[in-house]
Amino acid sequence: MILVTNSEGTPGVGRTAALLAGGRGGLDAIEAGIRLVEADTSIRTVGRGGWPNLLGEVELDAAMIDGNSFRTGAVGALKGFLHPISIARQVMERLPHEFLVGDGAARFAREIGAETADNLIPDSERVWREWRDRNVAGADLEAWPDIPLAALCRQAIDPEKGKDTTVFLTLDSKSEIMAGVSTSGWAWKYPGRLGDSPVVGAGAYADTAHGAAACTGTGEMAIRAGTARVIVLYMKTGMSLHAAMDEAIDDLRRLKGGLISRITLHAIDRDGRHRVVAVNAEEPLTYWLWQDGDDAPHSEPCETVML
Ligand code: ASP
Repeated sequence: MILVTNSEGTPGVGRTAALLAGGRGGLDAIEAGIRLVEADTSIRTVGRGGWPNLLGEVELDAAMIDGNSFRTGAVGALKGFLHPISIARQVMERLPHEFLVGDGAARFAREIGAETADNLIPDSERVWREWRDRNVAGADLEAWPDIPLAALCRQAIDPEKGKDTTVFLTLDSKSEIMAGVSTSGWAWKYPGRLGDSPVVGAGAYADTAHGAAACTGTGEMAIRAGTARVIVLYMKTGMSLHAAMDEAIDDLRRLKGGLISRITLHAIDRDGRHRVVAVNAEEPLTYWLWQDGDDAPHSEPCETVML
């Protein structure tokens, strides 16, 4: 068994490890762990307490992937609910679809009785308002929010540099491989922007026969390169986990233009190996690792690779 989560997984990693150790399947263990991260307002990049978009609205994204059946469930740009990861799982379990966004996702969440929440905590609102008031003035402020947002979006700087989406990858006691991710996305994003996290194959992928991968950081890069999917696909072609990640990093190196910044790649394989690489990281980053036999998850340094 193995569990890999990034440092934002702190509130939930112990719970997920305990459930795996007790024989629970990966999807249950991941959902339980991510729910704790989503509810913890000290994690400012996931769930309640997450940073809002340009308009000051918290839009959440999440996805779960079952590496046995390749059923997936994802929600994007979801407003007003506490646990997007559980709503994503219910998309997988109750619908013939894989991905719901915006009003439709919220409607489904209400239909299944998902817990609502005011996800914009006062501190996030204060920081967002200060940012808005520094960047929008005069007639634009009077007309707010009916002003063009594109230029604002281009100059927006994420207040939480080095902090991310939470990603959980598991190989459980039945040797089944699952993945789950949840995020508030890029801070000050254009309303409706989806990053890689809910886009299955970009931000996460799982295949019990080969392995799983998930990304944090600049989702635009993972979408363009199909990063999580290709890591698993490269393993399917016979590459080692290590070589598959090197190949996916090479793919990222070929991206030209657009938003190029830090992206952290996490992967496990069916033999319980793992690797975490922080691409373009300007500061040291860590992740959580738990393997069967470990008393508790422990923090490990990420490798760093510059493009
Ligand atoms: N990957 C996420 C996104 O692009 C953000 C992050 O992990 O920081 O939405």
